[in-house]
Amino acid sequence: MKTTSLSYSSLFLFLAILSCSSWHAQSHAHDDFLQCLSLHLQNNTEISHIVYTPNNPSYLSILRSSIRNRRFEFASNPRPHVIVTPMYESQIPAIVLCAKENGMQIRTRSGGHDYEGLSYRSKVPYVVLDLVNLSEITIDVEQKTAWVQAGAIIAQLYYKISETSRTLAFPAGACPTVGVGGLFSGGGYGPMLRKFGLAADNIVDARMIDVEGRILDRKSMGKDLFWAIRGGGGASFGIITAWKLKLATVPETLTIFSISQTTNKMQNRARSRDGNTLPPISLMIY
Ligand SMILES: Cc1cc2nc3c(=O)[nH]c(=O)nc-3n(C[C@H](O)[C@H](O)[C@H](O)COP(=O)(O)OP(=O)(O)OC[C@H]3O[C@@H](n4cnc5c(N)ncnc54)[C@H](O)[C@@H]3O)c2cc1C
Repeated sequence: MKTTSLSYSSLFLFLAILSCSSWHAQSHAHDDFLQCLSLHLQNNTEISHIVYTPNNPSYLSILRSSIRNRRFEFASNPRPHVIVTPMYESQIPAIVLCAKENGMQIRTRSGGHDYEGLSYRSKVPYVVLDLVNLSEITIDVEQKTAWVQAGAIIAQLYYKISETSRTLAFPAGACPTVGVGGLFSGGGYGPMLRKFGLAADNIVDARMIDVEGRILDRKSMGKDLFWAIRGGGGASFGIITAWKLKLATVPETLTIFSISQTTNKMQNRARSRDGNTLPPISLMIY
């Protein structure tokens, strides 16, 4: 009996030491990361506006702000040592270098729609780089092009295009809250696919930051990397900060309709005909 209570108290002591040392290691890691950032970024007030550690009252709300899969909100899920929400592209190289220097992985998040939560979860110490503040969209109507920062969601892109022109559009996804960072990196299909192809087919330039913290564009990254980032999957090659898009010309008036059929109705109609083929169901875009 004595041995059991002794082993319980030793176990408790061991767990307490373990959780204390892991808390100590965690706070040490983010202290070192913050110190590194303050060396690389000129202005210290900048840092206090873009960095959220677990002690910050806004940490949880920022983390949850774009978690689209609710089961990843539970406290049992891994949480980042630090969340950084850069205001400018020029702040990102320092974040990459400081994460590397402190052995922390970077999880880049745009719209947060990753099915496995890979933009905000990891099994090793990590930083969430949340691009929510990088969502600027500039449209050149004459050139029929647009620059969109990676933190924008496709609803913002569609809205901005429609505000600027009634005859320009971009072939991307159907769900409005998906981020252009992850969507275009994986190809990006939507209702205009048949006529204009994937979103990635209509990207003509991009800006990204590589593992060395270099800011690259289409010319400096080279054609292989430019090919790979358009469909090779988010987080595979670096941090995309912006895409340049070739806009599609569309008619001013758009007609959309759909025909709903139950399986029974379709089968009855098919049987009433000579052939065995089912009548087509169509969703017309123009
Ligand atoms: C409800 C829903 C609807 C969808 N609808 C469509 C659709 O209509 N068409 C379609 O093609 N797909 C669709 N998808 C799939 C969607 O395109 C992918 O899940 C995409 O990866 C989500 O991008 P995100 O930026 O929103 O997600 P995030 O979770 O932010 O990112 C997804 C992945 O990309 C990485 N990543 C994000 N931003 C960057 C960046 N700037 N640079 C480098 N890596 C980055 C992340 O680290 C993560 O690995 C849908 C998904 C959901 C959940």
